[in-house]
Amino acid sequence: MSAIILDGKKLASQIREDLSSKISALQGTLPPALAVVLVGDNEASKIYVRNKKKAASEIGMICEVLELSSGIGENALLEVINELNSNHHIHGIIVQLPLPPHINPLHILSAISPQKDVDGFNPYNAGLLSCREDSAIISATPKGILRLLQHSDIELSGKHAVIIGRSNIVGRPAAILMLNQDCTVTITHSKTQNLQALIKQADIVIAACGSPKLVKKDWIKPGAVVIDVGINRLEGKLCGDVDFEEVSQIASYITPVPGGVGPMTVAMLLENTFEAFQKQAQTPHPQCHCHHCNHSL
Ligand code: NDP
Repeated sequence: MSAIILDGKKLASQIREDLSSKISALQGTLPPALAVVLVGDNEASKIYVRNKKKAASEIGMICEVLELSSGIGENALLEVINELNSNHHIHGIIVQLPLPPHINPLHILSAISPQKDVDGFNPYNAGLLSCREDSAIISATPKGILRLLQHSDIELSGKHAVIIGRSNIVGRPAAILMLNQDCTVTITHSKTQNLQALIKQADIVIAACGSPKLVKKDWIKPGAVVIDVGINRLEGKLCGDVDFEEVSQIASYITPVPGGVGPMTVAMLLENTFEAFQKQAQTPHPQCHCHHCNHSL
């Protein structure tokens, strides 16, 4: 193996420690609070939510999980979101995806207050990112990828980044983020022709397609940087969208699965919540007379 491992687990742990010290140093105020809305009983979603709650608690952040029945209607769910929007003690709101098929996720994500939208999935924040506006809340997975690249001083300007996947939560925002970093970006998807030939041209590959070990050694330009977002189960073991054993022989840098992008995603969600808390703390809540708000923030 010749590639340098981009150790997301280690960097994420440093970021969490830093956030933890910042939260312990807060005086005279309640800690930042994240609300996680979980609809239905999708097993994978339950695990993701449990991990987020654990990670938040470990750094002293409040994490309230609202477990709602899969039968909840869209209007009732919108009411829950509106209540969270107007609750001054909640600074970040995430709705765990996927939602049951009778609920349009875009209606729900659009209803989250952009200031509390710590997943960055509200079209308003996605739009700000597209417009290169610094105030955008950037969704956690692409933000985590960028942080990993920057932490290893990997040059991005002028590089050709090929993204595999165009989902609203990973592929698209990752492509825009790379474009904003002055990469030349190619976005690929399931209808792309000559996927392998396009990837072979990439200086940076971001694989986010949910297809186990799809990307092989002979697809990769020697020295390319390979970011594997995929989380798949193959023969009972976790693996990414990249054939790590093979590709690590030819790439310059590579993320492992597990221990790469996954932990960075959680760390960035916590960071987004902390930053949302800081911004909201600068805005007083004139109508609120509860004893917490009378503390200096
Ligand atoms: P989606 O299923 O929403 O999107 C997958 C995308 O990949 C689609 O755009 C699809 O194309 C494209 N695609 C699928 N197969 C191929 C193929 N053979 N060649 C080219 N493109 C293909 O998945 P997500 O974006 O939500 O997630 C992608 C992966 O990342 C999953 O494994 C998921 O578990 C993982 N993930 C990991 C996270 C982390 O923190 N590490 C966070 C979020 C997701 P089309 O649009 O044409 O259907």
